[in-house]
Amino acid sequence: MPLDPGYLLLIGEFGGRLLYHPAGATLPEKYHLWLAFEDGSSLTALTQMWGALELYQAGQERERQYVKGMRPTPVEPDFTFDAFAALIAGLLAGEKRSVKALLTQDQLLPGLGNAIAQDIMFRAGLHPKHPLSDLRAAQQRGLYDAILTTVHAAIARGGRYDEFDLYNRSGGYQRLMDSRAVGRPCPVCGAAIEKIQYLGGACYFCPRCQV
Ligand SMILES: [Zn+2]
Repeated sequence: MPLDPGYLLLIGEFGGRLLYHPAGATLPEKYHLWLAFEDGSSLTALTQMWGALELYQAGQERERQYVKGMRPTPVEPDFTFDAFAALIAGLLAGEKRSVKALLTQDQLLPGLGNAIAQDIMFRAGLHPKHPLSDLRAAQQRGLYDAILTTVHAAIARGGRYDEFDLYNRSGGYQRLMDSRAVGRPCPVCGAAIEKIQYLGGACYFCPRCQV
């Protein structure tokens, strides 16, 4: 977020609530940052679990570890299938990783997190523990397509139903695979949706569709 004169507020690695308040509005009881603007409106930020709110002179934020060398997010033009396939090929030389690790670890695909990864893996028909090294070409393509389909569907609906925008409105994207889905029939094959704990978060998946 650019700020005059010549500053930039970096809101990174952030889980929480970022809200805009018109002049005269009542502020929330809790927040970690309150920015008051000259017209009386303001912005509050409340971090949950983790978050970084840092002020930089514009340009210097590029030296910040989180920003430096960051790969393109899935909504950027540089996120092509060739770049995605090259990322996977490069990872195969290192430690063994699974599909969930690719989607959620080490900012390999910045912008994705555990929640959205569940729907991506369901759409791709891939189990969270499926090894990257075993992905066939068609599965790589399917995973790439599932990332784009899921991310764009969430954006088109104003984000996930369990997240809020600057005006405190929840999004309209209903997650396919979340805690509500456990035990319910898979929308594709009817098998009961299962839950496991894996790589620091819950995974929800169809035991029949996701291999
Ligand atoms: Zn299924």
